[in-house]
Amino acid sequence: MAKRDYYEVLGLSKGASEDEIKKAYRQLAKKYHPDINKEPGAEEKFKEINEAYDTLSDPDKKARYDQYGFDDPTQGFSGGASGFGGGFGGFEDIFSQFFGGGRTRNSNAPQQGADIEKQMSITFEEAVYGCKKKIRLSVDEECIQCGGTGAASKNDIKTCTKCGGRGRVVMRQQTIFGYTNVETACPDCRGKGKIITKKCPDCNGAGRVRRTKDVEVTIPAGMQTGMTLRMEGYGGAGINGGPNGDLYISFICGEHKQFKREGQDIILTIPLSYYQAVLGDTIEVPTIDGNVSLKIPAGTQPGTKLRLKGRGCKNPKGGAQGDQYVICNVIVPTSLTKEEKKAIEELRDQEKKDKKSPWENFKNLFTKKN
Ligand SMILES: [Zn+2]
Ligand SMILES: [Zn+2]
Repeated sequence: MAKRDYYEVLGLSKGASEDEIKKAYRQLAKKYHPDINKEPGAEEKFKEINEAYDTLSDPDKKARYDQYGFDDPTQGFSGGASGFGGGFGGFEDIFSQFFGGGRTRNSNAPQQGADIEKQMSITFEEAVYGCKKKIRLSVDEECIQCGGTGAASKNDIKTCTKCGGRGRVVMRQQTIFGYTNVETACPDCRGKGKIITKKCPDCNGAGRVRRTKDVEVTIPAGMQTGMTLRMEGYGGAGINGGPNGDLYISFICGEHKQFKREGQDIILTIPLSYYQAVLGDTIEVPTIDGNVSLKIPAGTQPGTKLRLKGRGCKNPKGGAQGDQYVICNVIVPTSLTKEEKKAIEELRDQEKKDKKSPWENFKNLFTKKN
């Protein structure tokens, strides 16, 4: 059978609003829910409605569906409803979608372990060059003693008598649609279908124990304050065979007395004597990777910013390396020898004679003309 357009399934036209989608789904779900509708084909219809709603109620999925239809190159719709996992949940699934709280979890389903967030302070050098550092974590790990079951031994795991091991029980409840049979997680075994009669002494039945361990972190060169490193699988142990959580480390990077960082760029302010600024020079400038030759052009003004391309920090995410900017600070001498003073006075007199004094020229701008 060819797959029907999701809007068509809900009796809507493309461009239907969020409210219209919700309303249509609500009406159709009520009409075709297998707990209410025993007609042949109702179950298939209900699945189809759920699948359509699963996509159209999610802004991301809806946008992709609107663009690509069933041929989404990024997703692969062929597997059917991703959210409902092929089947459909109990009636409370519908309620939880409308009344918040999210979809009810099957307590036997694999769940990803908890993520861990940590902060780490590193020095300027460690940030710039990269390093390996140990970090102490307090992590939930699967209990070795019971293998995560939480029971003292295999014989202490019994099938729940209330639900017969199903983990779910059907109860008659009043809902907004009237009285109906509602399937919920079994209250005795909390949906697990099994009851532990004697708890594992190591984990006290939790199946998990908290352990302190040291993890070596490889910090790539160029780390910046505020950047986060993700270490997949270093978080808490997964539940029911789910994957481990991840470890997220955010960094606080130390400063350097001379090298200042602006992202991947390095800023270095250097002192120049006035004659270096006037006549120009070639100097060896320190960078984070050793000295580099830099030409100071004749007539360099105070505050001039010169660029050393590619002499900044590496980019920890890959991509281009930063630059180093050299800011020229021209130093005016505060004590002069007699000879120096004489030479400078000669320069001053020459400047006056040539009428090239910047100050005189500036002052003239304000002279009133008769
Ligand atoms: Zn245990
Ligand atoms: Zn039970």
